[in-house]
Amino acid sequence: MNKSSNLHMTTEEFRKQGHAVVDWIADYYDKIETYPVLSQVQPGDIRSKLPKSAPQKGRPYEEILNDMNQLMPGITHWQSPNFHAYFPCATSGPAILGDLISTGLGIQGMIWATSPTCTEVETHVLDWLVDMMDLSQKFKSTSTGGGVLQDTASSSSLVALIAAREKASNGRINKNGHTGRLTVYTSSQAHSSIEKAVKITGMGKNSLRLIDVDERFAMRSDLLHRQIEQDIADGFTPAFVCATAGTTSSTAFDPIAEIGKICAEFGIWLHVDAAMAGPAALCPEYRFIHEGIEFADSYTFNPHKWMLTNFDCSVFYVADRKILIDSLSILPEYLKNKATESGAVFDYRDWGIPLGRRFRAMKLWHVINYYGVEGLQQYIRENISHTQELKEWIETDDRFEIVAPVPLNLICFRHKSGDDFNERLLNELNASGNIYLTHTKLNGQYVIRFSIGQANTTLEHIKKSWTLIQDTVVKLEQE
Ligand code: PLP
Repeated sequence: MNKSSNLHMTTEEFRKQGHAVVDWIADYYDKIETYPVLSQVQPGDIRSKLPKSAPQKGRPYEEILNDMNQLMPGITHWQSPNFHAYFPCATSGPAILGDLISTGLGIQGMIWATSPTCTEVETHVLDWLVDMMDLSQKFKSTSTGGGVLQDTASSSSLVALIAAREKASNGRINKNGHTGRLTVYTSSQAHSSIEKAVKITGMGKNSLRLIDVDERFAMRSDLLHRQIEQDIADGFTPAFVCATAGTTSSTAFDPIAEIGKICAEFGIWLHVDAAMAGPAALCPEYRFIHEGIEFADSYTFNPHKWMLTNFDCSVFYVADRKILIDSLSILPEYLKNKATESGAVFDYRDWGIPLGRRFRAMKLWHVINYYGVEGLQQYIRENISHTQELKEWIETDDRFEIVAPVPLNLICFRHKSGDDFNERLLNELNASGNIYLTHTKLNGQYVIRFSIGQANTTLEHIKKSWTLIQDTVVKLEQE
């Protein structure tokens, strides 16, 4: 079959194929549980099915959509209700539709003038979120700060470090009377993106200090204080501390208030990384996760993890936008315009690394409007209550132990038979296709992580998964 004689897809054909694609996605969600959660293909399997060279002539869209059948075996089903690996990357109908509209509009919001709606909806939604999560008012655009969407928490933390570097290196003099090499502090449980940011900024890996944690895997503020004093005595300039609210391995919470006081004492930039856990603060009863947030110079969390907004979408707030803008601002002749010159608008190109910007706020706007604050609270509360139920089931099975506190939606547990057994258990579970779990190491021990956050995970799913885990243990014990 040949494609129609038009080079471009007509709006008539787009309408027809668009309906087919939306049907395809809806069908996918209807039958998502029939796929193995973790893709079971071997390296190269998918490419071996693809044509050696690109088609010389365009193909009818029906054929292209049909190709999806070949590609699906290589998909890991992140939206499956049985996906409990890593942290969630939960999406939702309104988020997908919002993203579709954003893509359909095809705009590029690098500066206010290139699409005022893109900038203003972003600013507005991020101001909403400050109130929705009871964050510090200084993060609002109406105050000294403001919010911006980045692609990922990795980028948000990188941008925070760039701003902190600018602040620390522009004229700050340390106790010894000079600006020594800058140093960066985070806990040994912090996400690897902090180390990566240090590498990217060129500050050098040796400038990174990994502070030890307590028995709950939270940063020890006494050790932080001691390390900072030592570094100042040695002629370094402490520039940046990253506290984590909800670490990747075990959702540990660093004591932000204690850390914040230390940062205030020495004039150090405090960044808080709440990439996954942040949305818990939508519920008043979980706002303890942000205790001390008023000390933070910057803060990030990802609606693309635990707020039903499809990847990518990372919220980044700064308390003093001037420092951020000064550190990233560029104004070549070809971007000059009256709105920028008036000073009355935000040009988000100066708030992040890329010049070009997608209309990410559109999907966030859709999600917040569709669910409302109460709907989002219900989603968070259900996830946490399911996690706590599972925790109780694990606790009553004395073959297992829970190895870290379970404040929100992640359980770190292990079978008591040792690392090898737990690794076999995890591999067997993932090979079954019925669940996807990942592991970490805590106190040097192999630990299985069970993370809950997908939009359609019910208590029934969790029950089935727990039975599967117990049955798999019996099977392995018999081998
Ligand atoms: N920070 C924390 C605490 C995380 O758990 C993660 C990812 O799981 C990240 C940062 C990185 O997130 P992103 O993939 O958005 O860069």
